[in-house]
Amino acid sequence: MTLKVFNTLIRRKQTFEPMHGKQVKMFVCGQTTYDDAHVGHAKTYVQFDIIVRWLKHLGYDVYYVQNITDVDDKLIKRAQEKGVEPLSLSKHYSRRFLKDMEALKVKRNVDLFPATSDYIPQMIDQIRILVEKGYAYDVMGNVYYDVTKFKDYTKLSRMSIDELKKHRIEPDPRKRNSFDFALWKREERGELAWDSPWGKGRPGWHIEDTAMTVTIFGPQYDLHGGASELIFPHHTNEIAQAEAATGKKPFVKYWLHTGVLNIKGEKMSKSLKNFVTIKDVLSRYQPEVLRLYYASTHYRKPMEFDEEDLERPKAELGYLYNTLRNIKHAASRTGKTSEEVETLLAKTERRFAEAMNNDFNTHLAFTHLYGLAREANKIVSKQKINWEQAEKATQTLRELGGIFGILEEEVTIGEELPEEVEKLIEQREEARKGKHWEAADRLRQKIKSLGYLLEDTSEGVRWRKVKNEATRSETS
Ligand SMILES: [Zn+2]
Repeated sequence: MTLKVFNTLIRRKQTFEPMHGKQVKMFVCGQTTYDDAHVGHAKTYVQFDIIVRWLKHLGYDVYYVQNITDVDDKLIKRAQEKGVEPLSLSKHYSRRFLKDMEALKVKRNVDLFPATSDYIPQMIDQIRILVEKGYAYDVMGNVYYDVTKFKDYTKLSRMSIDELKKHRIEPDPRKRNSFDFALWKREERGELAWDSPWGKGRPGWHIEDTAMTVTIFGPQYDLHGGASELIFPHHTNEIAQAEAATGKKPFVKYWLHTGVLNIKGEKMSKSLKNFVTIKDVLSRYQPEVLRLYYASTHYRKPMEFDEEDLERPKAELGYLYNTLRNIKHAASRTGKTSEEVETLLAKTERRFAEAMNNDFNTHLAFTHLYGLAREANKIVSKQKINWEQAEKATQTLRELGGIFGILEEEVTIGEELPEEVEKLIEQREEARKGKHWEAADRLRQKIKSLGYLLEDTSEGVRWRKVKNEATRSETS
């Protein structure tokens, strides 16, 4: 079974064959740290994290780099407004960002988070090469890339020259072409600046990624990811810089892009101020719920964010955890070894892999995982199953769930329920039978405050222990 990925460069799926055997060098455009990251950013990072997890599952040795942009026009502006140093503002937000990534279980799979300010000499070097080779020119301390010198400029974006001309980036009448972009920006008012052959200034945004990756990976690497809105100009410019500077093609073999996250029909973005931060959502939902939410849609598709939609993955996750509990419950040394279970596990693993190998179809893969849980529940509601087999079923659920970064929490089962909680659950059942809904609700709250969540299912009430200390402290 081979992995196929949709490569933006050729606009179709192709077999994934890294440049050096099982080694995968991978880069994803990271955060500009002048504010808290929002759930639109999280979509990209979680979806690429799932991709990394699947590559590792297939036995690839992935080296994953995600940069942190700490030198940037908007960041400098924000720092000036707040009256702080740009680099200290950035440090503050990058610490918060890394905490978000840790909570979302993304950080552990990123091998390196290089910051722009640590790679300034390498950027100056790359710009100097581009100037020497005639791809870039200096206009009184501003260095621009002459786009007309690089003949494959539009190979990633597939834009026409007329379309390009519409993008009047960085207006400067001294530029050779309106769409030439800045590699080096002259210091204007004593802001963040470094010495360079063109005078004091700072690097443009696009050069940071290529200077970093050429330094870390060499002139070519396997996979570059990012949100689809970065195809032009950011990734387009990266190709122009790297391929012109190193003379090696392709700079990147596979370009993968995630669909944007919209809110009320508009792209969620810092500049539109229509964003919901990761921290905010994680104060109400478990990280696994948010991860499953992103996994519910194919990574290339856009999503429309509505917080109510998180209720669905929340319920699905609850069902999956209950399945693990039910299996644990039904496991016994004397239980039968069921042929049915064996077939089910093998079939699910195969189908799950087929879906993931087809350009990471997480939506379909999850359907198979969920189907396994349903079938497993049917089986264990009828019979006790062999202890070893129960263990195997649990492992499969956890392993496949682990690709999405879910089902990583421990589960406990009935016998371990404290007597006090058990009594409260019984009282609540009584209240419900008598249709005393308010009393039932009060009891549910009481049980919750003791650290247990209840779920009413067709097979009766189920419970789940919550690790959250905050829930417990409500009682104390
Ligand atoms: Zn980037």
